[in-house]
Amino acid sequence: MVNRTVYDALVKNYRAHFGREPEVVAYAPGRIEVLGNHTDYNEGFVFSAAINFGTFFAASKSASASCRLVAGDLMKEVAFDVAGIGASKTDTWQNYVKGTFAGLTAVKAVPCGFDGMFLGNIPLGSGLSSSAALEMCAGLALGKLYGIGVDTVTLAKIGQKAEHVYAGCKCGLLDQISSLAGQAGKLVKTDFRSLVYETVEMGGDACFLMCNTHAKHALVDGAYNSRREACEQAAAHFASVLRHPVHALRDVSMAEWVLYKRGLPETVANRAAHPIGEDERVLKGAELLAAGDLAGFGALMFDSHESSRVLFENSCEELDAVVDAAKKIPGVMGARISGGGFGGSAVVLVHPRDAETAAAALANAYAARFGVPCDVSVITPAAGAHVVK
Ligand code: ADP
Ligand code: MG
Repeated sequence: MVNRTVYDALVKNYRAHFGREPEVVAYAPGRIEVLGNHTDYNEGFVFSAAINFGTFFAASKSASASCRLVAGDLMKEVAFDVAGIGASKTDTWQNYVKGTFAGLTAVKAVPCGFDGMFLGNIPLGSGLSSSAALEMCAGLALGKLYGIGVDTVTLAKIGQKAEHVYAGCKCGLLDQISSLAGQAGKLVKTDFRSLVYETVEMGGDACFLMCNTHAKHALVDGAYNSRREACEQAAAHFASVLRHPVHALRDVSMAEWVLYKRGLPETVANRAAHPIGEDERVLKGAELLAAGDLAGFGALMFDSHESSRVLFENSCEELDAVVDAAKKIPGVMGARISGGGFGGSAVVLVHPRDAETAAAALANAYAARFGVPCDVSVITPAAGAHVVK
């Protein structure tokens, strides 16, 4: 079992706190974005992976309509009623579970409350999606507890709605789908138009380093929204000049961008080139993985970062420094922004035998430049969410 020690600690704490065994336990991992940046809302493609860090959720039915929920890492408890599952302004960790529970009860009413506790080892707020892991392990555990069966995409959407409505974060579906669909040693390739996903063998000996810079640049929300608007403006332009239907930038090829970008402001054209290029890189990356060409796949990751840096302008000094340092470290095959950008994390593709030395070299190079090291975690693509007990 992945993260056996976390599971054992959770069951022990659950027993001590509630005085009984949990009826069900479910697990969900965090995720990394590997290739395909800002493609989700352009209805394109993303390569991601479930990771070897995750969260467990243990639960039993309670004797009344009230629910008790404990954050095991904090050993803090909150209580709420099945009839009134509203978002809370304090102990905001509860909102991810409440939002997911509310989504399940909309599918089927529940007869009673639950005693729940969760525990995990994903660093919080560092771009590994601890929030989606929490939603998905709660969703699987509570779905099992009450006999509410939902398919993968429906559960992912319930988690997304919990983020939007309960946590106030307008995220896409990538985090939840990756957490649910991941498999050991495989990447998840998702089509964000159809929401059809598949797992793809890494086809070689590789793992990732996730480098959290902790950089958070001002105006992140405004910059994110302005990128979305530029993509929409460009899609409308291409819809008016191309002879085939264009609903989103997914429908525009790089060759068409070159021929038909005239009439768009230069900045808007450059913004559009990023998701268009990323889609092509994901499709090319799938071919390279099938051929066992990890070095070729890594080169696409470097190209992806360059596109972020120059065209989409969602990189920053700290992320560029990680990628530049990675290029000089033996054994590194690729590196790029992972996630929205403007700060946050970079993901590095490396041979497992080089992972520890490369991680130390990256942290040192970063510290030499900025005075503090970035946090580097060694990540292996691992099993997706599942019911454990
Ligand atoms: P990320 O998803 O990248 O980790 P978010 O800000 O979206 O960052 O979600 C982090 C939040 O999720 C935390 O601040 C906390 O409220 C909640 N959370 C997730 N996992 C746990 C956990 N194991 N214990 C307590 N809170 C958690
Ligand atoms: Mg999150």
